[in-house]
Amino acid sequence: MALVRIEDALLRAREAAAPEVGRGRLAEYIPGLASVDPHQFGMAIASVDGQVHVIGDADVPFSVQSISKVFTLALVVAAEGEEIWKRVSREPSGNPFNSFLQLDQEAGRPRNPFINAGALVVTDRLHAMTGDASGTLRDLMRRESGRADLDMDLDVARSELAAGHRTFAVAHLLASYGNLETSVDEVINQYVAQCALSMTCRELALAGLFLARDGVLSDGSQLLSAREAKRINAVMLTCGTYDSAGEFAYRVGLPAKSGVGGGILAVIPDRGVACVWSPALGPSGSSAAGLAALDAFTTYSDWTVF
Ligand code: GLU
Repeated sequence: MALVRIEDALLRAREAAAPEVGRGRLAEYIPGLASVDPHQFGMAIASVDGQVHVIGDADVPFSVQSISKVFTLALVVAAEGEEIWKRVSREPSGNPFNSFLQLDQEAGRPRNPFINAGALVVTDRLHAMTGDASGTLRDLMRRESGRADLDMDLDVARSELAAGHRTFAVAHLLASYGNLETSVDEVINQYVAQCALSMTCRELALAGLFLARDGVLSDGSQLLSAREAKRINAVMLTCGTYDSAGEFAYRVGLPAKSGVGGGILAVIPDRGVACVWSPALGPSGSSAAGLAALDAFTTYSDWTVF
Protein backbone atom coordinates (compact mmCIF):
# COMPACT_ATOMS: atom_id res chain seq x y z
CA MET A 1 0.00 0.00 0.00
CA ALA A 2 1.34 3.42 -0.92
CA LEU A 3 2.08 5.64 2.08
CA VAL A 4 0.72 9.17 2.02
CA ARG A 5 1.77 12.56 3.45
CA ILE A 6 0.62 13.54 6.94
CA GLU A 7 -2.05 15.93 5.63
CA ASP A 8 -3.53 13.17 3.47
CA ALA A 9 -3.28 10.62 6.27
CA LEU A 10 -5.25 13.05 8.47
CA LEU A 11 -7.95 13.32 5.79
CA ARG A 12 -8.18 9.54 5.62
CA ALA A 13 -8.31 9.35 9.41
CA ARG A 14 -11.26 11.75 9.48
CA GLU A 15 -12.99 9.79 6.70
CA ALA A 16 -12.54 6.51 8.56
CA ALA A 17 -13.79 8.04 11.80
CA ALA A 18 -16.87 9.73 10.28
CA PRO A 19 -19.31 6.80 10.68
CA GLU A 20 -18.36 6.52 14.37
CA VAL A 21 -18.54 10.21 15.29
CA GLY A 22 -21.45 10.74 17.70
CA ARG A 23 -22.04 6.99 18.08
CA GLY A 24 -21.65 5.56 21.56
CA ARG A 25 -22.14 7.02 25.01
CA LEU A 26 -20.82 10.06 26.80
CA ALA A 27 -19.21 9.61 30.23
CA GLU A 28 -22.52 10.47 31.92
CA TYR A 29 -21.31 9.27 35.30
CA ILE A 30 -19.40 12.57 35.46
CA PRO A 31 -22.28 15.06 35.21
CA GLY A 32 -20.01 17.82 33.82
CA LEU A 33 -19.23 15.64 30.79
CA ALA A 34 -22.83 14.63 30.03
CA SER A 35 -23.66 17.82 28.13
CA VAL A 36 -20.73 17.84 25.65
CA ASP A 37 -21.78 17.79 21.96
CA PRO A 38 -20.88 14.23 20.88
CA HIS A 39 -20.64 15.14 17.18
CA GLN A 40 -17.23 16.80 17.44
CA PHE A 41 -14.02 15.36 16.02
CA GLY A 42 -10.50 16.75 16.03
CA MET A 43 -7.01 15.43 15.52
CA ALA A 44 -3.50 16.88 15.80
CA ILE A 45 -0.13 15.46 14.88
CA ALA A 46 2.92 17.09 16.46
CA SER A 47 6.32 16.07 15.17
CA VAL A 48 9.41 15.97 17.40
CA ASP A 49 10.59 19.31 15.99
CA GLY A 50 7.38 20.97 17.25
CA GLN A 51 5.51 21.26 13.92
CA VAL A 52 1.79 20.58 14.20
CA HIS A 53 -0.77 19.41 11.60
CA VAL A 54 -4.44 19.49 12.53
CA ILE A 55 -7.87 18.58 11.21
CA GLY A 56 -11.41 19.26 12.48
CA ASP A 57 -12.01 20.44 16.06
CA ALA A 58 -8.34 20.21 17.06
CA ASP A 59 -8.48 23.60 18.81
CA VAL A 60 -11.57 22.92 20.92
CA PRO A 61 -10.71 22.24 24.61
CA PHE A 62 -11.99 19.02 26.15
CA SER A 63 -11.56 17.22 29.47
CA VAL A 64 -8.31 15.25 29.42
CA GLN A 65 -9.46 12.82 32.17
CA SER A 66 -7.26 9.72 32.25
CA ILE A 67 -4.76 11.06 29.72
CA SER A 68 -3.46 13.08 32.69
CA LYS A 69 -2.31 9.82 34.30
CA VAL A 70 0.61 9.50 31.86
CA PHE A 71 1.91 12.91 32.84
CA THR A 72 1.61 12.41 36.62
CA LEU A 73 3.42 9.09 36.22
CA ALA A 74 6.16 10.81 34.21
CA LEU A 75 6.58 13.46 36.95
CA VAL A 76 6.86 10.84 39.68
CA VAL A 77 9.31 8.67 37.70
CA ALA A 78 11.31 11.80 36.85
CA ALA A 79 11.66 12.60 40.56
CA GLU A 80 12.41 9.18 41.97
CA GLY A 81 12.82 6.60 39.23
CA GLU A 82 11.66 3.08 39.97
CA GLU A 83 10.42 3.72 43.56
CA ILE A 84 6.75 3.96 42.55
CA TRP A 85 6.71 0.33 41.36
CA LYS A 86 6.90 -0.76 44.99
CA ARG A 87 3.37 0.61 45.39
CA VAL A 88 1.81 -0.14 41.98
CA SER A 89 2.37 -2.97 39.47
CA ARG A 90 2.58 -2.62 35.69
CA GLU A 91 0.58 -5.51 34.27
CA PRO A 92 -2.33 -5.08 31.86
CA SER A 93 -5.80 -5.43 33.29
CA GLY A 94 -8.73 -7.27 31.76
CA ASN A 95 -11.10 -5.39 34.04
CA PRO A 96 -12.67 -1.95 33.65
CA PHE A 97 -10.67 1.11 34.71
CA ASN A 98 -12.73 1.71 37.84
CA SER A 99 -12.59 -1.88 39.06
CA PHE A 100 -12.11 -2.91 42.67
CA LEU A 101 -10.75 -6.27 41.68
CA GLN A 102 -7.31 -5.20 40.69
CA LEU A 103 -5.53 -4.79 44.02
CA ASP A 104 -3.33 -7.65 45.06
CA GLN A 105 -4.72 -8.96 48.31
CA GLU A 106 -1.41 -9.02 50.16
CA ALA A 107 -0.09 -5.52 49.68
CA GLY A 108 -3.06 -3.62 48.22
CA ARG A 109 -0.94 -2.87 45.16
CA PRO A 110 -3.03 -1.82 42.13
CA ARG A 111 -2.43 -3.74 38.92
CA ASN A 112 -1.15 -0.79 36.89
CA PRO A 113 -0.80 3.00 37.14
CA PHE A 114 -3.58 3.71 34.62
CA ILE A 115 -6.55 2.02 36.26
CA ASN A 116 -8.09 4.42 38.75
CA ALA A 117 -6.66 2.65 41.82
CA GLY A 118 -3.13 2.85 40.42
CA ALA A 119 -3.53 6.45 39.30
CA LEU A 120 -4.66 7.42 42.81
CA VAL A 121 -1.42 5.99 44.21
CA VAL A 122 0.67 7.91 41.65
CA THR A 123 -1.18 11.16 42.36
CA ASP A 124 -0.79 10.52 46.08
CA ARG A 125 2.97 10.19 45.64
CA LEU A 126 3.22 13.33 43.53
CA HIS A 127 1.19 15.24 46.11
CA ALA A 128 3.30 13.97 49.00
CA MET A 129 6.43 15.04 47.10
CA THR A 130 5.34 18.47 45.88
CA GLY A 131 2.46 19.54 48.15
CA ASP A 132 0.47 20.34 44.99
CA ALA A 133 0.09 17.44 42.56
CA SER A 134 -2.51 19.02 40.28
CA GLY A 135 -0.65 22.37 40.22
CA THR A 136 2.63 20.64 39.36
CA LEU A 137 0.92 18.80 36.52
CA ARG A 138 -0.84 21.96 35.31
CA ASP A 139 2.49 23.83 35.21
CA LEU A 140 4.10 21.10 33.10
CA MET A 141 1.14 21.18 30.72
CA ARG A 142 1.30 24.97 30.48
CA ARG A 143 5.01 24.95 29.66
CA GLU A 144 4.88 22.13 27.12
CA SER A 145 1.66 23.16 25.36
CA GLY A 146 2.63 26.82 25.19
CA ARG A 147 -0.72 27.99 26.67
CA ALA A 148 0.04 29.88 29.85
CA ASP A 149 -3.59 30.11 31.03
CA LEU A 150 -4.45 26.47 30.58
CA ASP A 151 -6.47 25.26 33.59
CA MET A 152 -9.01 22.82 34.88
CA ASP A 153 -12.73 23.00 34.16
CA LEU A 154 -14.16 23.65 37.62
CA ASP A 155 -17.65 22.34 36.76
CA VAL A 156 -16.21 19.01 35.63
CA ALA A 157 -14.04 18.73 38.75
CA ARG A 158 -16.89 19.63 41.13
CA SER A 159 -19.34 17.30 39.46
CA GLU A 160 -16.89 14.39 39.49
CA LEU A 161 -16.23 15.03 43.17
CA ALA A 162 -19.94 15.11 44.00
CA ALA A 163 -20.62 11.88 42.07
CA GLY A 164 -17.37 10.12 42.93
CA HIS A 165 -18.59 7.44 45.36
CA ARG A 166 -16.67 4.69 43.62
CA THR A 167 -13.44 6.70 43.54
CA PHE A 168 -13.82 7.39 47.26
CA ALA A 169 -14.41 3.69 47.88
CA VAL A 170 -11.27 2.72 45.93
CA ALA A 171 -9.22 5.34 47.81
CA HIS A 172 -10.50 4.08 51.18
CA LEU A 173 -9.54 0.55 50.16
CA LEU A 174 -6.01 1.77 49.30
CA ALA A 175 -5.83 3.59 52.62
CA SER A 176 -6.88 0.42 54.45
CA TYR A 177 -3.77 -1.22 53.04
CA GLY A 178 -1.60 1.71 54.05
CA ASN A 179 -1.00 2.53 50.36
CA LEU A 180 -1.82 6.25 50.63
CA GLU A 181 0.44 8.89 52.15
CA THR A 182 -2.05 11.76 52.07
CA SER A 183 -5.67 11.65 53.22
CA VAL A 184 -8.44 10.13 51.10
CA ASP A 185 -10.09 13.54 50.68
CA GLU A 186 -6.87 15.23 49.61
CA VAL A 187 -5.84 12.59 47.11
CA ILE A 188 -9.29 12.65 45.51
CA ASN A 189 -9.30 16.45 45.31
CA GLN A 190 -5.98 16.29 43.49
CA TYR A 191 -7.09 13.41 41.25
CA VAL A 192 -10.31 15.03 40.04
CA ALA A 193 -8.45 18.31 39.47
CA GLN A 194 -5.84 16.60 37.28
CA CYS A 195 -8.55 14.74 35.31
CA ALA A 196 -10.52 17.99 34.81
CA LEU A 197 -7.70 19.79 32.98
CA SER A 198 -9.16 21.25 29.82
CA MET A 199 -6.90 21.07 26.74
CA THR A 200 -7.13 20.86 22.96
CA CYS A 201 -5.75 18.13 20.69
CA ARG A 202 -3.03 20.51 19.54
CA GLU A 203 -1.99 21.33 23.12
CA LEU A 204 -1.98 17.71 24.27
CA ALA A 205 0.03 16.56 21.26
CA LEU A 206 2.66 19.21 22.01
CA ALA A 207 2.65 18.44 25.75
CA GLY A 208 3.28 14.74 25.10
CA LEU A 209 6.25 15.25 22.79
CA PHE A 210 8.84 14.44 25.46
CA LEU A 211 7.63 10.83 25.27
CA ALA A 212 8.60 10.73 21.58
CA ARG A 213 11.87 12.57 22.24
CA ASP A 214 13.47 10.17 24.71
CA GLY A 215 12.31 12.30 27.64
CA VAL A 216 13.48 15.73 26.38
CA LEU A 217 11.18 18.70 27.09
CA SER A 218 10.49 21.64 24.77
CA ASP A 219 13.27 23.75 26.36
CA GLY A 220 15.85 21.01 25.73
CA SER A 221 16.00 19.87 29.36
CA GLN A 222 15.61 16.20 30.20
CA LEU A 223 12.47 15.26 32.19
CA LEU A 224 13.03 11.51 31.83
CA SER A 225 16.02 9.44 30.81
CA ALA A 226 15.64 7.65 27.47
CA ARG A 227 15.14 4.41 29.38
CA GLU A 228 12.38 5.89 31.56
CA ALA A 229 10.60 7.31 28.50
CA LYS A 230 10.82 3.91 26.82
CA ARG A 231 9.32 2.27 29.88
CA ILE A 232 6.42 4.69 30.21
CA ASN A 233 5.63 4.16 26.52
CA ALA A 234 5.69 0.40 27.14
CA VAL A 235 3.22 0.72 30.02
CA MET A 236 0.97 2.82 27.75
CA LEU A 237 1.07 0.12 25.08
CA THR A 238 0.05 -2.64 27.49
CA CYS A 239 -2.22 -0.75 29.91
CA GLY A 240 -3.20 2.59 28.34
CA THR A 241 -6.57 1.78 26.81
CA TYR A 242 -8.41 0.04 29.64
CA ASP A 243 -9.58 -3.51 29.08
CA SER A 244 -9.27 -3.16 25.29
CA ALA A 245 -5.48 -2.66 25.16
CA GLY A 246 -5.16 -5.83 23.04
CA GLU A 247 -7.70 -4.68 20.46
CA PHE A 248 -6.16 -1.21 20.46
CA ALA A 249 -2.66 -2.59 19.86
CA TYR A 250 -4.03 -4.81 17.09
CA ARG A 251 -5.69 -1.94 15.26
CA VAL A 252 -3.35 0.97 16.01
CA GLY A 253 -0.08 -0.50 17.23
CA LEU A 254 1.08 2.51 19.23
CA PRO A 255 1.60 3.31 22.93
CA ALA A 256 -1.50 5.31 23.82
CA LYS A 257 -3.62 6.61 26.67
CA SER A 258 -7.31 7.29 26.38
CA GLY A 259 -9.64 9.24 28.65
CA VAL A 260 -13.40 9.23 29.18
CA GLY A 261 -13.53 12.81 27.87
CA GLY A 262 -13.06 11.17 24.44
CA GLY A 263 -9.39 12.00 23.89
CA ILE A 264 -6.64 9.57 22.94
CA LEU A 265 -2.93 10.45 23.02
CA ALA A 266 -0.63 8.14 21.00
CA VAL A 267 3.15 8.25 20.84
CA ILE A 268 5.26 7.43 17.79
CA PRO A 269 8.78 7.27 19.29
CA ASP A 270 11.31 9.52 17.51
CA ARG A 271 8.56 10.82 15.18
CA GLY A 272 5.93 12.60 17.22
CA VAL A 273 2.59 12.45 19.01
CA ALA A 274 -0.95 12.07 17.71
CA CYS A 275 -3.92 13.33 19.71
CA VAL A 276 -7.47 12.64 18.59
CA TRP A 277 -10.73 13.62 20.26
CA SER A 278 -14.35 12.71 19.72
CA PRO A 279 -16.53 12.49 22.83
CA ALA A 280 -18.72 9.41 22.19
CA LEU A 281 -17.20 6.34 23.83
CA GLY A 282 -17.15 2.68 22.80
CA PRO A 283 -17.87 -0.12 25.28
CA SER A 284 -14.45 0.01 27.00
CA GLY A 285 -14.49 3.76 27.58
CA SER A 286 -12.24 4.91 24.71
CA SER A 287 -13.44 7.14 21.88
CA ALA A 288 -14.80 4.92 19.11
CA ALA A 289 -14.12 7.51 16.40
CA GLY A 290 -10.67 8.15 17.86
CA LEU A 291 -9.78 4.49 17.57
CA ALA A 292 -10.97 4.36 13.94
CA ALA A 293 -9.01 7.54 13.14
CA LEU A 294 -5.76 6.25 14.64
CA ASP A 295 -6.24 2.88 12.91
CA ALA A 296 -6.46 4.67 9.54
CA PHE A 297 -3.69 7.12 10.35
CA THR A 298 -1.15 4.41 11.16
CA THR A 299 -2.28 2.37 8.16
CA TYR A 300 -1.85 5.13 5.58
CA SER A 301 1.17 6.97 6.98
CA ASP A 302 4.52 5.57 8.01
CA TRP A 303 3.93 6.90 11.55
CA THR A 304 3.84 3.55 13.24
CA VAL A 305 6.11 1.35 15.33
CA PHE A 306 5.23 -1.81 13.39
N1 GLU B 1 -11.80 10.89 36.25
C1 GLU B 1 -12.22 9.68 35.63
C2 GLU B 1 -12.57 8.63 36.67
O1 GLU B 1 -11.93 8.55 37.67
C3 GLU B 1 -11.14 9.20 34.71
C4 GLU B 1 -11.52 7.95 33.98
C5 GLU B 1 -10.90 7.85 32.62
O2 GLU B 1 -10.74 8.80 31.89
O3 GLU B 1 -10.59 6.70 32.32
O4 GLU B 1 -13.50 7.88 36.55
